[in-house]
Amino acid sequence: MTNPTLLILAGDGIGPEVMGQVTRIIDWYGKNRDLAFDVEHDLVGGAAYDKHGTPLHDDTMAKALAADAVLLGAVGGPKYDDLDFSVKPERGLLRLRKEMDLFSNLRPAQCFDALADFSSLKKDIVAGLDIMIVRELTSGVYFGEPRGIFEEGNERVGINTQRYTESEIDRVARSAFELARRRSGKVCSMEKANVMESGILWREVVQKVRDTDYPDIELTHMYADNGAMQLVRAPKQFDVIVTDNLFGDILSDCAAMLTGSLGMLPSASLGAPNPDGRPKALYEPVHGSAPDIAGQGKANPIACILSFAMALRYSFDQGDEATRLENAVEKVLADGARTADLMGPEDGTPISTTEMGDAILAA
Ligand code: ATP
Ligand code: MG
Repeated sequence: MTNPTLLILAGDGIGPEVMGQVTRIIDWYGKNRDLAFDVEHDLVGGAAYDKHGTPLHDDTMAKALAADAVLLGAVGGPKYDDLDFSVKPERGLLRLRKEMDLFSNLRPAQCFDALADFSSLKKDIVAGLDIMIVRELTSGVYFGEPRGIFEEGNERVGINTQRYTESEIDRVARSAFELARRRSGKVCSMEKANVMESGILWREVVQKVRDTDYPDIELTHMYADNGAMQLVRAPKQFDVIVTDNLFGDILSDCAAMLTGSLGMLPSASLGAPNPDGRPKALYEPVHGSAPDIAGQGKANPIACILSFAMALRYSFDQGDEATRLENAVEKVLADGARTADLMGPEDGTPISTTEMGDAILAA
């Protein structure tokens, strides 16, 4: 049997530091769990630009398309701020998303009990929170044509177009329903069908996919503005939320802050199924390259480690191992392990990136 393949693109800033802890965990699986991966490392973002003059080399793109999953650290940094738009580090990530056609972005918002005090909300609102926002990632108002700033009479007008085809809605709805089947079977779809044509179509198509192929799923619909309010009022009423690109961008950041630190949040972006039935997939922490703390061994590796746990679950059929890894993270937090981002100024001495990795490996 051949091992599953994993392409690791650690990228820039704290990317390589947090990914270093994931690499240790991958090695641990190979030695202790008879779960070995064929891991390849390559460059993305500024690191790729420094070597190749492009934020994503064609060879790397080909490797990403061939791999069973891609794990990415972070891209960008002040060193690259003045680069031409076409070679900016972020373009490397955008190219990956586009060519892998990663239309479904999964952002869990999970609140570990040990960190419930850290949330921007009251403890009883968030303790035990475990929801997943599925955001459509490749269409909608960020991509629709026409777009631009045009002359109109004696002034200018800025135009973006919200545009969704039935098939684009259909496929992201399916990915949310598939996900819900692995969870509680509950999906809430959010749009603005009261004021937007795309919202009317969104609601109709999502309902039709449910009625045709997912009758076991409990589907509700909510206007996105009400959704935002409910997310901060009583987030535990939700399990899976599916929504478009723009609303998903906003709602997932909002949900993220229910849980505490940026250093805790993983994500997955899934595309169309490969011939073996598993989707093309890219896993990455929600945080960026954090240039302010890069190179200091301070970064919290948990977001990156939980991204690998998502890869275990969604790309490698290792849901039990994913849960075990998540439990190990939960245990070290309950035991009091804290990197600097999880502490207030008077909370004592934080542990380093590597020490957090040590603790999770031990657990
Ligand atoms: P991007 O534009 O790439 O999303 P950003 O400007 O939004 O980047 P980040 O790079 O994510 O921001 O950093 C935002 C803040 O959060 C910084 O102060 C950074 O140090 C902190 N931060 C981000 N990730 C981590 C982490 N893993 N551990 C500790 N602190 C982090
Ligand atoms: Mg950001």
